[in-house]
Amino acid sequence: MTAQNKKLIVGNWKMNLNMHEASLFLHKLSGLTKPHRTVDVVLAPTMLTLQSLSLQVNYRQFKLAAQNIYWRDQGAFTGEVSARQLSGVVQYAIIGHSERRHIFHESDKDTRNKVQAAIRNNISPILCVGETAAERAMNETNDILHDQLVGGLANITSEELSQIAIAYEPVWAIGTGNNATPHDVTQAEKAIRSQIRHLYGKTAAETVRVLYGGSVTKDSAAEYLAIPGIDGLLIGGASLDAQGFSDIIEKAHKTASAVAK
Ligand code: PEP
Repeated sequence: MTAQNKKLIVGNWKMNLNMHEASLFLHKLSGLTKPHRTVDVVLAPTMLTLQSLSLQVNYRQFKLAAQNIYWRDQGAFTGEVSARQLSGVVQYAIIGHSERRHIFHESDKDTRNKVQAAIRNNISPILCVGETAAERAMNETNDILHDQLVGGLANITSEELSQIAIAYEPVWAIGTGNNATPHDVTQAEKAIRSQIRHLYGKTAAETVRVLYGGSVTKDSAAEYLAIPGIDGLLIGGASLDAQGFSDIIEKAHKTASAVAK
């Protein structure tokens, strides 16, 4: 099983579940989920619960991700948590999530600094990109993807790129129930790979992991997983349903096994 045949399923719990609830949820999910060599499953709980879940989690089953990091390693940055502090606790970090970009006004420069900080501290970045509804209506999707990729990946080498996954998350589809169609996702996936080809060449464009995220449910997951060029899913709301999320992991396993045959 090569990294390209594997699927990557990320559950973003957002600002839900306190320490007790998160521990119970992980316990329940562990009981429902079989580890598969074909699927990497990453859980992104709130910062507060990462440390305790890192002691509870079975790393053969799940890896952990931070929902955000700060890019300086240490210093007078009240309220922030650095990639250096998270190193060893998480294996992944979500960077540039649309809620960070739009609610907390993070810029492409912030995402670039965070991508670099993650790599420097042995954490694999999941870089989120995607257009708003207004940008889509103005036909600006490819320009936005271009700017967010060029901005987020500046100074990243092709070797470092192999540690990064790009998540296409159209803002209008996140938490809204408005699914992007497989056609929309394919168009964006092609635009992302074309931009990566331009920056890093053909091999990088073919091998970089591209995920889709935006109102994916246990019923719609298989359709997205079957899209050629889509290597996995970033799931918010539906990742908080233990049975539904483990069904999605099984679907990812079936898709990856069918492709590997
Ligand atoms: C997300 O949090 O990145 C996300 C895609 O959320 P949802 O699945 O709820 O749309």
